[in-house]
Amino acid sequence: MINQKMLGLGTKRSAIRELFEYGKQRKAEIGADKVFDFSIGNPSVPAPEALTEALKDLIANTDPVALHGYTSAQGDAAVRAAVAEAEEARSGCDVDPNLIYMTCGAAASLTVSLHAIVNPGDEVIVLAPYFPEYRVFAEKAGAILREVPCISGSFRIDFAALSAAITPRTKAMIINSPNNPTGAVIPAADLEKLGKLLSEKEGDSDSEIFLICDEPYRALTYDGVEVPYVPAFYHRTLVCYSYSKALSLPGERIGYILVPPAMPGAKEVYAAVCGAGRALGFVCAPSLMQYAVAKCGNMTADLSVYETNRKLLSESLSEMGYSITNPDGAFYLFVKALEEDAAAFCEKAKQFELLLVPSDSFGVKGYVRISYCVSTQQIQAALPAFKALYESYEKKD
Ligand code: PLP
Repeated sequence: MINQKMLGLGTKRSAIRELFEYGKQRKAEIGADKVFDFSIGNPSVPAPEALTEALKDLIANTDPVALHGYTSAQGDAAVRAAVAEAEEARSGCDVDPNLIYMTCGAAASLTVSLHAIVNPGDEVIVLAPYFPEYRVFAEKAGAILREVPCISGSFRIDFAALSAAITPRTKAMIINSPNNPTGAVIPAADLEKLGKLLSEKEGDSDSEIFLICDEPYRALTYDGVEVPYVPAFYHRTLVCYSYSKALSLPGERIGYILVPPAMPGAKEVYAAVCGAGRALGFVCAPSLMQYAVAKCGNMTADLSVYETNRKLLSESLSEMGYSITNPDGAFYLFVKALEEDAAAFCEKAKQFELLLVPSDSFGVKGYVRISYCVSTQQIQAALPAFKALYESYEKKD
């Protein structure tokens, strides 16, 4: 018999992917401009011109055998040096190129990190709402996922709930800032409290608790909000980065894992990361992309459309009467559903050709996620549909 768990994962798509596929079908039926697809987090702006130029230059001026050949399993040494330099410039902390592991995006960074750390039966804490694939990645690594709800409305860490959820079996905790689906950024004051709490809990049970920071949206913040460098707050932090969103390269699968040199046993942890990369087949991230991001890693695509969309959408929906959480970053708006059952609300939204993701698979009930990484015209065109959806609930009352 084949692996039933994998069969299950392969036959039942995630709620996001399910809706994305429905959108494709619906667009073919009635026309792309008539479907307001807010399902998936696919960047809607091109990669920076400098990246295109870097790719052209690499192809024109590099020996093709070297360019497309294998790099070291953990990534090309010069590329890792460039990544370390960029991280040092951002954080003001020491970063060692020999503790950087190039991967195929944040998904690979997370799954490799979890496999490097977790032993079967260990517990991994996630803060709800959370990116649904965390469950898949953690369970594949043999862990038990523990959801800790954030404070309702603000979506900040509920420290009392978190403290109660940490047990001697807790091996890791995943944080995601800016957050998918709420857009919340964890402020420095909360990171400080978190660092203290995890250190205390480690001391209490003589255990090791790793903090895994999933940061694909790090470059996408609004109103001057900054994303702090998390290893500065806690000694056992792994940073999982991806260029997917910042450089608009999600299909190219490129990112990295950073093990801070100050982490106790950093070299051993890094060796386990290399081992997990090997065991999972995530060795030698795409070489052309490695060389390209080494040249452009500290740039971003023109992200201004997300700022425009965020303002337009949050102001318009608030005016209509929707209850929204103003996002500090990423490109998602988390909105209260107009009935208790978010999935039923999303089904109703489909009648207005609005494709919204119910919050249930993110680990909370009663909300929907709107991905606003779309054209501003799509948002403008969708506003009457959002209004009609709202009014359809008013009529019910
Ligand atoms: N983590 C979060 C929170 C995400 O939203 C995503 C993708 O949308 C990923 C990880 C995976 O990113 P990547 O495309 O870099 O694998």
